[in-house]
Order: sequence, then C-alpha cells, then structure tokens
Amino acid sequence: MKVPFLDLSQQHKAIRTEALAALTATYDATRFCLGKDVDEFEQNLATTLGYPRALGMNSGTAPLHVACMLAGFGAGDEVITTPFTFISSAWGISYVGARPVFADIEAGTYNLDPAKIAAALTPRTKGILVVHLFGQPARMEEIMAVARQHHLFVIEDCAQAIGARYQGAPVGVIGDVGTFSFYPTKNLGGCGEGGALVSRREELHTRARHIRVHGSDRRYYHDIIGGNFRMDGFQGALLNVKLPHLGAWTKRRQTIAARYLDGIRLAGVRLPEQPAYGQSVFHQFTIRHSRRDALREFLARREVGTDLIYPVPLHLQKCYANLGQGRGTLPVAEGTSDTCLSLPIFPELTDEQVAHVIASINSFTG
Ligand SMILES: *Cc1c(COP(=O)(O)O)cnc(C)c1O
Repeated sequence: MKVPFLDLSQQHKAIRTEALAALTATYDATRFCLGKDVDEFEQNLATTLGYPRALGMNSGTAPLHVACMLAGFGAGDEVITTPFTFISSAWGISYVGARPVFADIEAGTYNLDPAKIAAALTPRTKGILVVHLFGQPARMEEIMAVARQHHLFVIEDCAQAIGARYQGAPVGVIGDVGTFSFYPTKNLGGCGEGGALVSRREELHTRARHIRVHGSDRRYYHDIIGGNFRMDGFQGALLNVKLPHLGAWTKRRQTIAARYLDGIRLAGVRLPEQPAYGQSVFHQFTIRHSRRDALREFLARREVGTDLIYPVPLHLQKCYANLGQGRGTLPVAEGTSDTCLSLPIFPELTDEQVAHVIASINSFTG
C-alpha cells in the first residue's frame, strides 16, 4: 500500500467546482490585489478563529518581516528565537538589521524552552520570536512571564499552527503580533503564496495595514516606511472557499495523530509530547529514533513517504555562521535534527493508510 508523505491533489479535487467558480468571479472582476475577496477572507479568518482582526499578506515570511518592523527591532538589538524551525522564522529579524539569538528547545514539544530563553537574555535583548512548531503551541505562560519582566516584544509565528489553542485562546494574540502562512502545503493552503498578520493591539494592526501598502493610508502619501506586502485577490477567493473546511480537516489530522500516538510501539521511538495546556493542529507528526535513517529507508521500501523536518537547525546554517553559535551549543535542537522523522499526516489519508504506517514502523527491526 502506497502512503505518500503529502498529496494536495485530493483536497483540491474535492472543492474544484466551487474553487474555480470563486477564482473565475475574481478574474472577471479583475480584483487582483487586495479587494473584496481579501476583505472577506480577513473577516472570515478573524470570526472563524477568534481574532479581533486580521490582515492578508503575500506570504508567511511577509508578516514576520512586518512584525519585526512594528517591534522597532534594529541594529544592535537581539531577538531570542528557536533554532528548530523553518528558516523564514528568523528572516524578519535579519531583514531589519537585528540579530537572532537561538535558544535551545524542549525535547518533548520541539518548541522553545522558557528556561533557555531566560538564560539567553542580555541587555540588548528586545524581543522573543516564538514558533508554534508542527502545530503544537509553545509554553506561552512561561514565555510571556519572561517577556513582561524584561519588557520584550513577542512575535508568534503561527505558520504551522492555524486553529491551535493555548489554554483555550487562539495562538497569535497572546503575544504582540501573530503571523500565518498560506503556502500550499500548510494546514490552510492557498493556490500560490499567502500569509496573514493578527494582533490584539489595534495600533499595531493599523500600522501594519499602512506598512502593507508602502507605508500609506492615502494613495501617493507615505507617512511611514512600508513595502508591498499585499495579498492577491485569487488567494482571498480560494481561501474563502477552503476556510469553512479547516475545522473538519484539523479534526482529521488530530484523529490520525491520536492513532499514531496510540499505535506506534516500536522500542526506542520517542513520540511528540502533548502537554495539557493546549491542543496541537498537527501540521506535522514528528517522531525521533536513534536509527532514523535506517527506519526511513525501511519505510520507503514499504512505500511509506517520510520527510526530515528539519535536517539542519538554524544556528548551523551557513547563512548564520557569523553568529558564532556553532555545533554543540544547542544540543537538544542538534540531537532532534539528527533523529527526527516526520510521518504522513494530511486529512485525506485513509484509515487503512494510517494503519499501514503504524504496522510498518512497529515491524522495523533494523
Ligand atoms: C511556512 C513557514 C513560514 C513562511 O511562510 P512562507 O509562506 O513560505 O513565506 C514561516 N515560518 C514557519 C514556521 C513556516 O512553517
């Protein structure tokens, strides 16, 4: 039985008629940048997930960049973040001339360890950029306590955590600014690039709205330095079709995760921890095993697709070699990169496919 790591075609086949009708309407109205579809999507996103307001942008990297502009980070400032994430989490910090300082993660949740954040503070620390990795909320209570004590700006990268809750509250509005990605492989994916920014602080939201369109409130008048971070009309149109399905798709991911947690029995496997404070939306289901490469090859022979997410932590990437956080400085993140293996977890997987993944893992003897 073949189990692909990810297959986007089934989901898009199921909504094809509705999706193409929405895209056609947008095409016919030539609503190509922002406009009614994006306005409606922002409203829908806010009401569906419980945000006061939301701003559509042209990638998930864009709101991270805008968030760092809103925070006022700049040369000489340090922003503490996780080394175990997609590179984009750190880009915004670098774009504004500040310095990412990587603090180690917890082995159980793959997220920032609050104690390691506290240990990384210096007089130059201006903010914390939290990532709710794989859909699992980070320990926000402890992180916010550090932030409050040291007057730090908190950005939440929710690119993988749309719909996730921390102590009942949606992620993204616990800190100062939250960001999302609608890259096609995300839990809510567009038909191209897309992202969003949320904030419980209205003044930040207003400033972000101006930054999104070249620092402008009124056309050709530019009060602050901005950029082009606008969402396409087509993305708004497709995401409006998909958003009503997100709840069911997320439930299915959680059901599959529960089967994996319950069924995987292979000795030496470390399963992702599920703390009681929140609810993961399982963008990934990532296990650890000391013989990871052999396990991966074994699964490939049984036609089970897997991926290494992420094979190299950020502090060991060439682009950040100048920061001087070499191998050995963040042992949990490094050990995780060396042993992690992400399993197939998309809503359209059948029960039989999930059972095949579990049986295959449990039969590994290598
Ligand atoms: C996908 C992703 C991003 C960036 O999103 P893009 O839409 O690809 O720019 C940022 N952070 C994390 C954790 C992501 O997974």
